[in-house]
Amino acid sequence: MSDGRVISAAAVITNPTGLHARPAVKLTKLAKSFEAQLRLRVGENGKWTDAKSVARVLSLKAPAGQTLFFEAEGPDAAEALSNITELVRRNFDEGSQRERQFEGQVASAGLGDGFLVVCSRPQMDGFNGTEAANPQAERKLLEGALARAALQLERLKSDGGTMASEILDFQLELLRDSTLLEPAYRSIAEGKPAARAFGQTLEAQIADYRSATDKYFAARASDLTDLRDRVLTALAPVAHVAAQDAPAEGGIYLADDLTPSRFLELDWSRWRGVALLGGSAASHVAILARSRGVPLLVGVRAALEDVVDGEAAVLDAETGRLIVSPSEATTRWVRERQQARAQRAELDEKYRAAPAVSAGGTRVAVQINVESERTLEDLAPASCDGIGLTRTEFLFHGRGALPDEETQYRFYSRLIGWAAGKPVTIRTLDAGGDKPIPGLTPHGESNPFLGVRGIRLSLAHPDVFRVQLRALARAAALGPLKVMLPMVTTPAELDEVREMLREEAAALGARGIVATVPPLGIMVEVPAVAIAIGRFDAAFYSIGTNDLVQYVTACSRESADLSALYDPLNPAVLELIARVAAHGRASGREVSVCGEMASDPELVPHLLDAGITSLSVAPSALGRVKHAVSDHAR
Ligand code: PEP
Ligand code: MG
Repeated sequence: MSDGRVISAAAVITNPTGLHARPAVKLTKLAKSFEAQLRLRVGENGKWTDAKSVARVLSLKAPAGQTLFFEAEGPDAAEALSNITELVRRNFDEGSQRERQFEGQVASAGLGDGFLVVCSRPQMDGFNGTEAANPQAERKLLEGALARAALQLERLKSDGGTMASEILDFQLELLRDSTLLEPAYRSIAEGKPAARAFGQTLEAQIADYRSATDKYFAARASDLTDLRDRVLTALAPVAHVAAQDAPAEGGIYLADDLTPSRFLELDWSRWRGVALLGGSAASHVAILARSRGVPLLVGVRAALEDVVDGEAAVLDAETGRLIVSPSEATTRWVRERQQARAQRAELDEKYRAAPAVSAGGTRVAVQINVESERTLEDLAPASCDGIGLTRTEFLFHGRGALPDEETQYRFYSRLIGWAAGKPVTIRTLDAGGDKPIPGLTPHGESNPFLGVRGIRLSLAHPDVFRVQLRALARAAALGPLKVMLPMVTTPAELDEVREMLREEAAALGARGIVATVPPLGIMVEVPAVAIAIGRFDAAFYSIGTNDLVQYVTACSRESADLSALYDPLNPAVLELIARVAAHGRASGREVSVCGEMASDPELVPHLLDAGITSLSVAPSALGRVKHAVSDHAR
């Protein structure tokens, strides 16, 4: 009996000999074991064919690399589609695809099995080659892509919260703006392909926005960049778009790299993990992946051409391997490890809710690092000792725009409300380095990690910085808010911000707006600060080991090649941490560690040995970090 609902699915044929006689028999036999009506076609434009007729299925002559689209209707339709697409992905059990393994570095631990979704970046040059089909067809292509981009933005808007909604509204308006689109349509009429016409029009606009002297206005360039990439992606062939945006449940994202904003955009409940050919474990996308518990391998030694989109795969982000077309034995072994992992997680979970106390009786504060409001979803404030780090740059560039004072104030207030009386530490904008904000961070620095980033950037743009300080001073009146400065190098920087904060709080007060000067602390990331910590009269210190390690070892946190040298256990790093901890004890000020070291249960004992008693960790690490603390003798 049918409920009349038709459901669909797709799978790529990775079997080298395609859908020949033996696989066709297997597919139709399996189809016949279900009551549901089943049909399939080859590619988006193929003819629908009865999936239970071997003659018809064989007549499709579908080769490797083609996508099979299925539709099913009937009581067991979902089960039928899941079984059939699984059979296609297993190469019809032909066993002809050899298992291949590619090594990589674990950036976020976990295990995932599913199928590969090969994601390439949108090309700026156009997908239609250099020759335009004809102006009318190209105009239609662009109109279609604009409509698809608008649809995606509407969808993002509905699940993204107020902030996303305001920012996305601006992009949606741009998409409908004839001043923006007219030059592109004119170029198409003159014979240019749609992608090139649109890309070049947007480039001109982006350059225009970037050169604006008003920083808020200049920052709108990133909206345009985002929009340009979205429309160019929508202009790409269908398979390419499908691969990037809406995989069936179980995809493993494989790409050269992944930006933090793209990461935030994807629905990770549908994916089993990420394998990147580039990237590094200390990058921001890795931090996001760990915070969400998404398995991630970086520096995978493969080429996108080594694999086929849709091929079955295992992401082993425990031992650091991407296993493509896994054998049955591998699949069995992975399932066993997944079970063991689940048992370990269950054990860690027991520690999650309780305060962390070491075996030697030392109470260790365990706070959380917050990347965005989504970090707090499904998280109870009782499971931590407050918020030890809020990375506000994600607020700023998640969708490419600078939020105004009111929007920032609302976000900070929500954090205070969530923490219910526990401390909330908010770091001022830490843009630059690997977190550029178009229109704000400098272009073309030869070494951005040693450039105008963190507090240096904020002090270079007081107009932007003072907006954040005002929002913070207002929010500080609502609860125990602490402000933390990133990338401080000299005591003068701290003094300057202290003065600015006082001025802004006083100016707000004079206008009858309630505001308070919150405690002002610093990140210890620059060796000059760690070595001479006594010079810095801050209310508290938080050690940013991600940057401290890169500056002490002279190894970029982004480099896959230097990952062995980028060593948090380098004695020089541990000595600096111990030095700051000792100063904290002697001067009665809190010293915490908010870098990724604190989230790694293998490294936590070294931090405790160095005298650290306060950690700020990825929420997904709360259970295992507290477990590591409780096992420690000190
Ligand atoms: C750090 O450097 O350790 C840190 C917490 O800051 P971020 O990773 O955001 O640079
Ligand atoms: Mg840092």
